[in-house]
Amino acid sequence: MDRRSLFETTATLSLGALAGCAMPGVAQPNAKTPFVVPATLIPIVGSEQSFPVRRIYCIGRNYAAHAREMGSDPSREPPFFFQKPTDAIQNVAPGTVADHPYPTLTKNYHYEVELVAALHLGGRNIPTASALDHVYGYALGLDMTRRDLQRALGDEKKPWEIGKSFDRSAPIGPLHRASQTGPFTQGAIWLKVNGQTKQSADLKQMIWSVAEQISKLSQAFELMPGDIIYSGTPENVGPVVRGDVIDCHIDGLPNLGIKIV
Ligand code: MN
Repeated sequence: MDRRSLFETTATLSLGALAGCAMPGVAQPNAKTPFVVPATLIPIVGSEQSFPVRRIYCIGRNYAAHAREMGSDPSREPPFFFQKPTDAIQNVAPGTVADHPYPTLTKNYHYEVELVAALHLGGRNIPTASALDHVYGYALGLDMTRRDLQRALGDEKKPWEIGKSFDRSAPIGPLHRASQTGPFTQGAIWLKVNGQTKQSADLKQMIWSVAEQISKLSQAFELMPGDIIYSGTPENVGPVVRGDVIDCHIDGLPNLGIKIV
């Protein structure tokens, strides 16, 4: 960092401190910046508004059969979480098949179909009983994974960041408000590749429910409005190659489609 950028960073932080920021390092909307970073937004069905994304949390191994296929014991150990960068979101409109680029560096690119919960209320140490009050809405999402890199890095006890948290690794459909859909505690979840069923399960087979995920996650992080949670994938994850079309479904949500290009 050169002197000029150091000065600008310091100036921005000082302005934020003077303005009484709620979070250290978060500049106020009226702060002067040398360029603009676009916000990540997810369309909300039946609304003119969009949902602004703050953080993307993902839960690992939340279906017993998937935990086994990943080589771990599916007994009810505490859930574990990782994050994707906010701009990993790829919005996909219902009724379309969006082009999704095959990423660099991998030769084993996997799909994981998942229910996503989006929060409009935050908090710490949120009780399970009231956790769903924090959910604004739900969407259908894909946790796309460079499986070869995830596995190799894990074997070497290195962070699996580039296996999971790369550009456009989080395709997602529009948000449906929980006030209209109710909670997603059961219902079919499936994924097809080129019309052939690959993943097929029921949301009630989750080891940790969405309410429990929110409660557990809020013990590790202060949750905030705009946080979204990918709730884990069922068994039978697998690879796709260029030209493949993925179609996925959760009862009560429109299907999500992407084509690997
Ligand atoms: Mn996943």
